Amino acid sequence: MTYTDSRPLGERAREISKRTVRTMLDKAWSMRPASALSRIIYYHSVHPSLEGSHRPADFARQMEWLQEHGYRTVRMSEVPELLDDPNSEPFVAVTFDDGYADNLEFGVPILEALGFAATVFVVAGMVGEDRPIPSSRGHKLYADRPMLTKRDLAELVGAGIEVGSHGQDHLLASKQARESPRAFLEDVAKSRETLAEATGGDVTSFAYPNGQRGAFSRTTREVLFEAGFEAVATTIWGTLNGSSDALELPRCEIAAEDTIEEFAAKMTGKREYRRLYQRAFDRSRAW
Ligand SMILES: [Zn+2]
Repeated sequence: MTYTDSRPLGERAREISKRTVRTMLDKAWSMRPASALSRIIYYHSVHPSLEGSHRPADFARQMEWLQEHGYRTVRMSEVPELLDDPNSEPFVAVTFDDGYADNLEFGVPILEALGFAATVFVVAGMVGEDRPIPSSRGHKLYADRPMLTKRDLAELVGAGIEVGSHGQDHLLASKQARESPRAFLEDVAKSRETLAEATGGDVTSFAYPNGQRGAFSRTTREVLFEAGFEAVATTIWGTLNGSSDALELPRCEIAAEDTIEEFAAKMTGKREYRRLYQRAFDRSRAW
């Protein structure tokens, strides 16, 4: 007998149970009728060849799908008000995390061609003055990618894209706040100032690094509110409705390997079980 999988037994068992749970939930939810629901979706890097990035052609196809299906796209700062409006049509907030330079190069032209709004959540401490700072895995980022510079941020805003904060250094907010709420406040306020200065506008939206259950807390919520943030996103899977909390908004991950069918399934409510699934396999514990 030969073993090709050298990972520890516990890890492999966990992988198998994850897959089994997912397949079962997949079957159960595929019977549900499709429905148009409001949600925030998120991406990271859009690049034609780098590993883990969305290919621009795939991203374009997904944006076209939204247009074909009559979705309105909104910026993050518009979300709180829309939640209060019972007559608002289903909308999608397209967001990008971390602030990779490829968002501007490959993502924005696609959004502009469709007249779409979007938001980029930028790690403020990784914004280069003139030259881009390279990303590194040490910050739990996608490695070997140039990050947006100050000038890029101004260009994004010029193209109608909102810039939000993704923290100062991409650290786990819950941990920062546990160590010192005051230092966490100073940190997020600094990120807000840096980004506001670069864009020449107000910065009122924030996305938690990691964003899963263990990545935020009651304290982080209070601190972000105190720092002036009005729309705060997690990565807890879910749709938006009148009872959504603007300071703890759910978001849906669009993975680089998603086919257009998978994207459609995510958009039409056939993947809502992911909220349950995520609870069982919370990745924030690994940070
Ligand atoms: Zn991130």
